[in-house]
Amino acid sequence: MTRYEPVIGLEVHAQLLTKTKLFCGCSVQVGVGPNQNVCPVCLGLPGSLPVGNRLAIELAVRAALALGCTIQHESIFARKNYFYPDLPKGYQISQFEQPFSTDGKLELEVDGVHRLARIQRVHLEEDAGKNVHGVGGESLVDLNRAGTPLIEIVGAPDLRSSAEAAAYLRAVREILMFVGANDGNLEEGSFRCDANVSIRPVGSTTLGTRTELKNINSFRFVQRAIDSEIQRQIGIVSEGGQVEQQTRSFDPDSGQTRPLRSKADAHDYRYFPEPDLPPLVLDEALVSAQRAAVGELPEAVRARWTSELGLSASAAATLTQHPEYARFFHAVCERFPQPVKAANWIQTEVLRDTEARGLSAKFPVRPEQVAELLALVEAGKISGPQAKKVYASLVGSERSAAELVEELGMSVVSDDAALRPLVQRVLDENPKNVQAYRSGKAALLGFFVGQVMKQSQGRANPQLVSSLLSELLGPPGAS
Ligand SMILES: [Zn+2]
Repeated sequence: MTRYEPVIGLEVHAQLLTKTKLFCGCSVQVGVGPNQNVCPVCLGLPGSLPVGNRLAIELAVRAALALGCTIQHESIFARKNYFYPDLPKGYQISQFEQPFSTDGKLELEVDGVHRLARIQRVHLEEDAGKNVHGVGGESLVDLNRAGTPLIEIVGAPDLRSSAEAAAYLRAVREILMFVGANDGNLEEGSFRCDANVSIRPVGSTTLGTRTELKNINSFRFVQRAIDSEIQRQIGIVSEGGQVEQQTRSFDPDSGQTRPLRSKADAHDYRYFPEPDLPPLVLDEALVSAQRAAVGELPEAVRARWTSELGLSASAAATLTQHPEYARFFHAVCERFPQPVKAANWIQTEVLRDTEARGLSAKFPVRPEQVAELLALVEAGKISGPQAKKVYASLVGSERSAAELVEELGMSVVSDDAALRPLVQRVLDENPKNVQAYRSGKAALLGFFVGQVMKQSQGRANPQLVSSLLSELLGPPGAS
């Protein structure tokens, strides 16, 4: 029986984090009424002329550099012609033959397999508007989104499983978020993906006929959509059939892909250079500034945190899932320089109640509060269980950890003179156990520590209790 391998290449569309559109001054703000953010340029009215948005261009260059691309100092905008109601000009301004960046790459590791995923190009383009169907039985057009700046990241067909495709998407999203180019928001469509999928017999080097899965908008669906499409294609080919070149969409309810359009009605976009815009010239100063703005990428951050700070791979992965998580961790460590303890606390306590939305994250506490709390534990002022109680009171409060410790009357008793009578009382109350300890049952030390802790309502410093007990009991087996 022939065995098949999937061949997958992804195209990612990512919205650049500007306040205004790519070729006009209209706002890209969402949540306003339909057709509020429009002007003659993005409505495609005759006589209007596009002007490039410098910030969009800078962010595009930064993203391409972060993805390992070579920046082309001169590139050309092109018209991609097609008719659709949400495209008022009748064409989309994109880049075709001469994109501004080429030849990037991503290194992935999935289930121990190393994969070099090449990126063929990153180019700039404007988004289309939106058709809103089923409003009182009608379809309406909202052009607020028309002209929103996007980059399209075109991946080579280098991926060999749906798991690799998901890993690739996660890596791209993480990088774009870390460099501040995109908010990674799949639900709102500011980060979306099309997948080109084909199969071929294992060992073959030619590419099979591919289908394109459109607009997959969740990580959960990416793998399911691709797996379902791979199985569908294998089913066809195994029965002697041929895969048809098609654009398909994934229906999460049925778990199947279904055809949207076939090759017969595939678009001929009649690309030609955009006559209303000059070539895009990127000078060295702009490119250098963006190279400097890239900063440390998540993969490098993880490598440094595991090798230099001693974090586990999983802790490093969790704390780099979002750039704000990484910043929070860094801010705690600046004040409390014990990264492993800080990482544990942030993972188990802080992130549990953190809401990340796009590029921003809402933390339940401030890093200074966490750092101070951890320092109090470290100094033996409060115990671990007490720290959890203090933390619960810190949430949503502007108070400092030390203030709350005092207010809750929680500070640990580390005073010899205060603890000694308590320890003595516990020994007096348990003469049989004292005798047993002294005749050799060393394990009873834990019992005594527990009793003292209980009587002090958890406030005694356990190290001091142990040493006082050893002193007052003498060595085990002494009598
Ligand atoms: Zn406009």
